[in-house]
Amino acid sequence: MNIEEHYETLDPKDWDKMRTLAHRMVDDAITYLETVRERPVWQPVPADVAAHFDEPAPNNPTDADVVYQEFLETVFPYPMGNIHPRFWAWYMGNGTIFGALADFMASIMNPNLGGGNHAANLVEGQVVDWIKAMLDFPSNSSGLLVSGGSMANFVGLAVARNAKAGFNVRELGMQAAKQQLTVYASTEVHSCNQKAVELLGLGNQSFRRIPVNDDFTIDLNALEATIAADRQAGCLPICIIGSSGTVNTGAIDDLNAIADICKRERLWFHVDGAIGAIAVLAENVKPQLCGIERADSVALDLHKWMHIPFEAGCVLVRHEDAHRNTFSLTPEYLEHEMRGLAAGRLWFTDYGLQLSRQFRALKVWMSIKEHGLDRFGRMIARNVEQAHYFGKLVEKEPDMELLAPIGMDIVCFRFNPGGLEEETLNTINKEILMRLQERGIAAPSYTTLHGRYCLRIAIANHRSTQDDFDVLAKKVVWIGQELTTQSH
Ligand SMILES: *Cc1c(COP(=O)(O)O)cnc(C)c1O
Repeated sequence: MNIEEHYETLDPKDWDKMRTLAHRMVDDAITYLETVRERPVWQPVPADVAAHFDEPAPNNPTDADVVYQEFLETVFPYPMGNIHPRFWAWYMGNGTIFGALADFMASIMNPNLGGGNHAANLVEGQVVDWIKAMLDFPSNSSGLLVSGGSMANFVGLAVARNAKAGFNVRELGMQAAKQQLTVYASTEVHSCNQKAVELLGLGNQSFRRIPVNDDFTIDLNALEATIAADRQAGCLPICIIGSSGTVNTGAIDDLNAIADICKRERLWFHVDGAIGAIAVLAENVKPQLCGIERADSVALDLHKWMHIPFEAGCVLVRHEDAHRNTFSLTPEYLEHEMRGLAAGRLWFTDYGLQLSRQFRALKVWMSIKEHGLDRFGRMIARNVEQAHYFGKLVEKEPDMELLAPIGMDIVCFRFNPGGLEEETLNTINKEILMRLQERGIAAPSYTTLHGRYCLRIAIANHRSTQDDFDVLAKKVVWIGQELTTQSH
């Protein structure tokens, strides 16, 4: 008898059987994406299916074919919907088939990108270099891939805090602060920045939310006045966060003006570019992002407008030493060597919180090679055009109205046939959204601006065509009229 037959491992007993299953899985995956438009955008998980997820963990093995079958029945038919051409909720990407295959190969190699001397680190290094070049960051700046915008903002703000606190925060902790350290951003800033400020021990009260202009960009006069008042009161301003694409309306702060203020006030300039930074690739957005290249740190998402499968974000830091000084910690068992597996200066764990890190760089690297940066730029530019196309449909339709200026690819609007109270309009529009989603027609999301409930579409979708927006406009009015005639 062959020795392997006695020796239990986690490898398949029959590799050919696994190969057959794997081929089937790839076929199913490709068909699934090829036919995504034919299915509803979203459907709720039926109760009897949901009940599967209450079962306890099995102690004994199940054949992989059987496990896969269960996945096909209980998980696969109920996607979030963001792979669909009429999904425009929150702010997502679609993913791509090749990106997913790259992810598969990354898991097959299964390296750990905390550090070490292997090709995967070179891939991540190159991806970070490409992103630096895209944003006109100096080649000696640093960066790393992270789970997404939240972690990217956290890393950037952690470096900002340590660089600007004026004392050794790592050694002494925030209790050593003699002054209250303050951070500035507009009221429209993404909530993950508040989480970061809280976790960095600064406290939400030190996070100054500056009012916005009519176009939802930060009010620069109010910003300067608040900084001055804080200095007067004995606080230590350390950082301004500029938004390049707010999540509500896609507003882009005046990044050059913020850079000027930061320079004058000697503050760290961080940009939350989770939505918009990648839009430097699109000719029709790039001019609005002018000034992003002056940031001390930028957080960006690749799983949103670049459609890399989740999770993929990136943070760039202009000052490599400040970045390294915030996160590097090298115990004996992680000493970097000159030769062998532990060689190499580039250990990504020196730039972030994680030690063990997945090979997320591969899907980014392979996707950028597959499509080239210009195609990503064209997809982004087209989404912006689609936002304006839909905006025109809204403006032409007497029963609809825009509720904010269109920021990049985000449109906030509502059904409003006239003659109804604000409260009624809020209720009706909420119901329109529910019906659009429950009928599987489309998946916009929602927000509230100046007390008005908005339907909101964020068109980070490489699969949406012009027809999809015609469908949305028609159905919103249809459902709205259905609801208003009922209530009369
Ligand atoms: C999505 C988003 C984030 C958070 O990024 P995640 O990738 O979801 O962690 C931060 N800022 C803005 C503006 C966003 O749109």
